[in-house]
Amino acid sequence: MIQKRKKKIIHSPGLTDLPPLSMDVPALMDDFRHHYTYHLGRDRYCRSVDYHYTALALTIRERLMERWKSTRYAHLEADTKTGYYLSLEFLMGRALGNAMLNLGITDAASQALYNLGINLEDLAEAEIDAGLGNGGLGRLAACFLDSCAALQLPVMGYGIRYEYGMFRQRIEDGRQVEEPDHWLRNGYPWEVERPEFTQKVRFGGHTQVYRTDDGNLRYRLVDTHDILAVPYDIPVPGYRNNTVNTLRLWKATATDVFDLHEFNAGSYTESVAMKNAAENITMVLYPNDASENGKELRLRQQYFLASASLQDVVARWKVMKKGDFSGFAEKNCFQLNDTHPSCAVPELMRILMDEQGMGWDEAWSITTRCMAYTNHTLLPEALEKWSLPLFQQLLPRILEIILEINARFLAEVSVRWPGDNNKLRQLSIIEEGPVPQVRMAYLAIVGSFSVNGVAVLHSRLLSQGLFRDFYDMWPDKFNNKTNGVTPRRWLAWCNPGLSSLITEKIGDGWVADLQQIEGLLPHAEDPEFRSRWHAVKRANKERLAAVVAEKCGVNFNPDALFDVQVKRIHEYKRQLLNVLHVIHLYDRIKRGDVSDWTNRCVLIGGKAAPGYFMAKLIIKLINNVANVVNEDPDVGDLLKVAFAANYRVSAMEVICAGTDLSEQISTAGKEASGTGNMKFMMNGAITIGTLDGANIEIRQEVGDDNFFMFGLTAREVEDRRRSYDPASIVAADPDLRRVMNLMESGHFNMFETGIFDPIVNAIYSPSDPWMVAADFRSFVEAQKRAGKVYLDREAWTRMSIVNTARSGKFSTDRTINEYNDDIWHLTPVPVKFP
Ligand SMILES: *Cc1c(COP(=O)(O)O)cnc(C)c1O
Repeated sequence: MIQKRKKKIIHSPGLTDLPPLSMDVPALMDDFRHHYTYHLGRDRYCRSVDYHYTALALTIRERLMERWKSTRYAHLEADTKTGYYLSLEFLMGRALGNAMLNLGITDAASQALYNLGINLEDLAEAEIDAGLGNGGLGRLAACFLDSCAALQLPVMGYGIRYEYGMFRQRIEDGRQVEEPDHWLRNGYPWEVERPEFTQKVRFGGHTQVYRTDDGNLRYRLVDTHDILAVPYDIPVPGYRNNTVNTLRLWKATATDVFDLHEFNAGSYTESVAMKNAAENITMVLYPNDASENGKELRLRQQYFLASASLQDVVARWKVMKKGDFSGFAEKNCFQLNDTHPSCAVPELMRILMDEQGMGWDEAWSITTRCMAYTNHTLLPEALEKWSLPLFQQLLPRILEIILEINARFLAEVSVRWPGDNNKLRQLSIIEEGPVPQVRMAYLAIVGSFSVNGVAVLHSRLLSQGLFRDFYDMWPDKFNNKTNGVTPRRWLAWCNPGLSSLITEKIGDGWVADLQQIEGLLPHAEDPEFRSRWHAVKRANKERLAAVVAEKCGVNFNPDALFDVQVKRIHEYKRQLLNVLHVIHLYDRIKRGDVSDWTNRCVLIGGKAAPGYFMAKLIIKLINNVANVVNEDPDVGDLLKVAFAANYRVSAMEVICAGTDLSEQISTAGKEASGTGNMKFMMNGAITIGTLDGANIEIRQEVGDDNFFMFGLTAREVEDRRRSYDPASIVAADPDLRRVMNLMESGHFNMFETGIFDPIVNAIYSPSDPWMVAADFRSFVEAQKRAGKVYLDREAWTRMSIVNTARSGKFSTDRTINEYNDDIWHLTPVPVKFP
């Protein structure tokens, strides 16, 4: 059990003043051998690559450690405003390659290992992804941290150290099987436990009012169940700038004080067993993307994160400012990654009032000047609501504060719309009903000074639709911050071939300043450059094909068009539309309609939430169709289909580099931004996509000639809903009719009668929210255009280069600069080292 250690300040400079570690090959060899032999206790007979990995990770980590300390000192000394990114998810992926790239020691490390007879690439493959997130939202948090460090911004990430991250996906009989991801089983060499900063988080109990010595009324919580939050810090290195920021992840443990009642009643073992219940809070990541499941444990996780993080910040503030909170809002800013951490609003109110003795108005003024909220979705099933009774039981004081926030807010509403009880009902943070619900998005909006969407279209739909009345009240709160991805991981690291070709032409400034990549544009007209670009792409496709052959047993010919859709499986993302197109191509082959054919390899990958029936059935359909297509001798190299199991960050690093055509085919108005689209674009894939999310902005950057657009617009989707009649669309389109006929006849489920009926019925339903049939024809035509261009290698390669060259906007460095200019107002802090 973790003891909270007494803070004892040791004034011994000799203890920590060490010369900087050398970054050259001999020093890396020495340190690697030292860790391998003395720390891990292995010898030359040990062949496990895991220990090689850990020895190198420790060697790299100590080079981060010294810069980490320098960064802490630089931030303390600068005494500038600090940003905090609060997120239930951080989808970090692998850390080793990123750390080496950012420190600039990849080549030296590779050489050092080579001298020891070890291959760096084999070793790097041994690292397990840190999969503490579901998909786009969690990966965005990871890319943001990378950019904040690259831009030298004093930003700290706060999250949860789940014992089990995103489940591992296996495919058995074409169906998804989930396996627990015990990513910590070999230890995690990048984290540092900091028990000295342990916080106590309190659940349950009830509130009492009491009078302080100076006669004021105050609230306190009594009879609570207390859980300890122990922080584990992970270094976040900036790109070659000596900055190392911190991601602080909380682990739940039992308080080390045994319950005396239980103890004296002879329930020693029961009392010890309570530890289990406490540790459950951070046991597992909820695997739902874009849908909430309303489980009590999830609300516990949310409050646990918000409370531990805020107490941590406030405790540091109190030490530094001797309890003076007057400048708190000017020096601290919290960005809420969706509503998941939005308990931070009432929790900061609680801390300021109940613990620091502030009055409501002062506490509210501080809170609403340092909270900012990012919305990530318009899908109603993803908007978080918690039942009021649950809140009452789990977080009674927090609920009281929410109700007071609501009462004061509704008073404002009634001034804005006098006598309009409908407005009061519509805007209330509490939704009426048989069981009243707390609307977390409304709480986040009311408690924040900034509300942003994540792409231009999404932000517009927020202010004109979902949050319209709030926009009317506070237009200045609302803003857009189009997402991005970090060019370090998503180009410089994952695509070394393309990176060196780019750097050869325009220098290496693009890694830290992606706008410079526009410099490639003129080279798109150079046939010699195009042929080298094509050669790199082809090598990346071979690398991807090798993985597909090994993992899926399907042979992709690297000369074929690699047509890829990888992302969470969700109906709104329309993997189903992709499958219908595949079936259409198969049908054409079977009918001998193969004039002007483009050979295609279709790769689809992604995880379905374990409780999402339709998504899991779509995975089964993809696999069944793949089997029929791949085993048909008439098809041969004309068409191959594979499902990539266990899609994750490290898989995407190989996939995006080897893709020709990036499928971004969500129903318009449903994908808030997308970020997979940006990774593909950066790596020279061309998008086939709807006018949805950031696709619109991608198309704007590359121009219509370098983008395969199709489908209804967001407005057309909404207009069509009322009269949507898929049966007549199918009847009027012979290609779609044959596709549906193949599905309905059971061609892909010969010995599994009727299993795909729910999918067929969904397509035929006039209330199909995703309107798959409506976009089929337009999608097929766009795919035809793409196939035709692909046959002209020069034209395709030119488009590919233009896509990379125009990807500058989609760096998270741009996104983060906008967050900082418009919302955070932080000053970059340079870090001197040594
Ligand atoms: C980028 C990324 C995502 C997000 O992909 P979208 O296509 O934007 O949904 C999801 N999962 C992983 C592993 C990613 O790297």
